[in-house]
Amino acid sequence: MDYLPLFFRLEGQPVLLVGGGSVALRKATLLTRAGAKVSVVSHEICPELDELLAQYQGEAIIGEYHTALLDGKGLVIAATDDNDLNSRVHFDATERNLPVNVVDSPDLCTFIFPAIVDRSPIVVAISSGGKAPVLARLLRAKLETWIPSSYSHLSSLVGRFRHAVKARFSTTNQRRIFWEEVLQGQIAEKVFAGRHDEAEQMLRAKLDDNTDRHTGEVYLVGAGPGDPELLTFKALRLMQQADIVLYDALVSPKVIDLCRRDADMVFVGKKRDNHAVPQEGINELLVKHAQAGKRVLRLKGGDPFIFGRGGEELQKLKEHNIPFQVVPGITAASACSTYAGIPLTHRNYAQSVRFVTGQLKNRTSDLNFEELVHPNQTIVFYMGLHSLPHLSRELIRHGKSADTPAAIVSRGTRPEQKVLIGTLTDIAEKQEQAQLEAPALIIVGEVVELHDDLAWFGEEVLQEHQADLLPRS
Ligand code: SAH
Repeated sequence: MDYLPLFFRLEGQPVLLVGGGSVALRKATLLTRAGAKVSVVSHEICPELDELLAQYQGEAIIGEYHTALLDGKGLVIAATDDNDLNSRVHFDATERNLPVNVVDSPDLCTFIFPAIVDRSPIVVAISSGGKAPVLARLLRAKLETWIPSSYSHLSSLVGRFRHAVKARFSTTNQRRIFWEEVLQGQIAEKVFAGRHDEAEQMLRAKLDDNTDRHTGEVYLVGAGPGDPELLTFKALRLMQQADIVLYDALVSPKVIDLCRRDADMVFVGKKRDNHAVPQEGINELLVKHAQAGKRVLRLKGGDPFIFGRGGEELQKLKEHNIPFQVVPGITAASACSTYAGIPLTHRNYAQSVRFVTGQLKNRTSDLNFEELVHPNQTIVFYMGLHSLPHLSRELIRHGKSADTPAAIVSRGTRPEQKVLIGTLTDIAEKQEQAQLEAPALIIVGEVVELHDDLAWFGEEVLQEHQADLLPRS
């Protein structure tokens, strides 16, 4: 370790900053954020820096740097493009044992500025010791996305209750358990949702509660179509704090891999006609585990509120007064159309889009085909692979042109994605030969023509010799 990370208390401390340009401005911004009393010396000071100094009672010294300016300072920073001047500042400061930083010259620094993720009072500092600053910044960007911005509020809340919790629990172990429950449970979730007062009330109630009974919570989370990078930050965060995960067949293995390692994983189905656990059973499981105090993740393919029966599961939870939250996911229509280069709407082709289920009840469907065949409208069929002959026949019978383009997108967004293009007349027959696998989405409408131009991902099933696949570069 070339540098020991330390956090300096700069509140009220005099700091000398040599230089008045944009680099000096960046340093001054950080220093004032930490409450330092900043003196800037330079022949020229840029207006923003001047303004900042005025705002934070800093000092602007227009003129030449000289050694006496170091008197009484606790920290020195040189941010000029004059190498000789930078070296002089370094020399003078080290002679007086003052910590000094010369921007972009690690050799002249006795301390360095780390890349910072600021969720004050939580601050994360990352440094490569001046060797790979870009890498440190990339790592910072990762952490920025991973640490919710409301961590500031959360840590302030903890700070306010620290003494009360210490007074209430005598052992460190009890306190640790208490805080872990707060920080990974409903109270933290309230803070993340911006409901600070409710969070505080719940924390008070938890402190006063003498029982050991805790209700859990259910997270109904959309896992998206398969590509794990299409998850939301919120989905990922909840996936990593759940105690138990109930997941569907539609959730891709790569997404499942991202759940907390020591969570209990329960597969509840359902592939077509093969429900590992019937819907009523799933509802009961959710209630049972939440009542036992667990954080239950209900992970569903795509979006939980689009052909996902998410609504029914929540109604059941509501009946039992179990707290829940819902996280939207990218639904198959959106994901498959984008990954197949088929915009669902387009000024010249379609001004509206319908999402419908192609599932048949007793070999027929309740769909209102009169409405579906409206011109300038894209139709997306979920769960339509098995009823494709029926759907295309009915669309034609109700007046849709027989040569309306249609596409099947199988396993959209996954490495095995395949797209088959045809028309209402021949798409079912082509699928009969190509045998694309579920899950598959059917898109009907003129917009499908754009696929020729805009396809960019996965493989195309050739139309003439259906057995061939055309890899996309
Ligand atoms: N809630 C899900 C839909 C569940 S219904 C969502 O919002 O996406 C199941 C149907 O979704 C499947 O029959 C298929 O039509 C479609 N589907 C889901 N994921 C898919 C994928 N990766 N590729 C193609 N179709 C998919």
